[in-house]
Amino acid sequence: MPNQFLIPNSKFLILMGAPGAGKGTQAAKIVEKYNIPQISTGDMFRAAIKDGTELGKRAKSFMDAGQLVPDEVTIGIVRERLAKSDCANGFILDGFPRTLEQADALTKILDELGTKLTRVLNIHVPAENLIERAIGRRICKNCGATYHVKFNPSTKGTNCDKCGGELFQRADDNADTMKNRLSVYEKSTRPLIDYYKAAGIYSEIDGTQPIDKVTEALFNVLSSVKE
Ligand code: ADP
Ligand code: ADP
Ligand code: ZN
Repeated sequence: MPNQFLIPNSKFLILMGAPGAGKGTQAAKIVEKYNIPQISTGDMFRAAIKDGTELGKRAKSFMDAGQLVPDEVTIGIVRERLAKSDCANGFILDGFPRTLEQADALTKILDELGTKLTRVLNIHVPAENLIERAIGRRICKNCGATYHVKFNPSTKGTNCDKCGGELFQRADDNADTMKNRLSVYEKSTRPLIDYYKAAGIYSEIDGTQPIDKVTEALFNVLSSVKE
């Protein structure tokens, strides 16, 4: 993927935020508007668990405990994914990087591919709101759309508005696992804020606003970004 193939206005983005901050919800809006792929390491691990692959077997115990999957495993799947041709003009990373080691590896991967990050968008939500967000999260088994029992309910109750599919709750969306995920976030992921601030590509969005307002704020940042 050498540089000369990059089209103007390409968007190489990271969507950061604590568990339950709204990354997946907002990534879907960015995908729709900018027509770039969403790369969610959490979704990739969940798909691998469902398919019963070696990767799934390695990831499952870490995810169930609310711990991070080891860096070498996670970096490996992202490296493979970013080399695919649909990433040539941009992507939105959702849930990666989560450690300084992953962030350094990402810089190297992009360098090898002849590109660099356009912007890091951090959806900021205080810890006290996050447990309620995660516990009320429901996901469509069929199309992956995300709902919330209180903040973004499906009009079809326990089925998906978009496709009628059954909604389910993630195994790790319980209060105990969330406590671990939040402490892992504080220790391992929060330091990335200073890392990307120092790189001059960091923007923060108030994630306590309603979903549409957060989308609007993200689009405002993106429309003013020059690569
Ligand atoms: P993440 O990918 O960061 O873990 P999600 O996008 O899955 O977060 O959102 C977590 C839960 O919070 C979901 O149930 C989602 O519907 C809900 N949610 C997302 N954004 C908001 C918001 N701005 N206000 C209230 N609830 C939200
Ligand atoms: P959330 O946005 O609600 O935290 P994700 O779907 O992004 O959920 O992640 C779910 C789980 O998958 C994490 O708790 C972790 O175990 C694993 N995981 C996802 N992304 C990474 C990553 N970049 N590094 C290590 N583990 C990850
Ligand atoms: Zn659906």
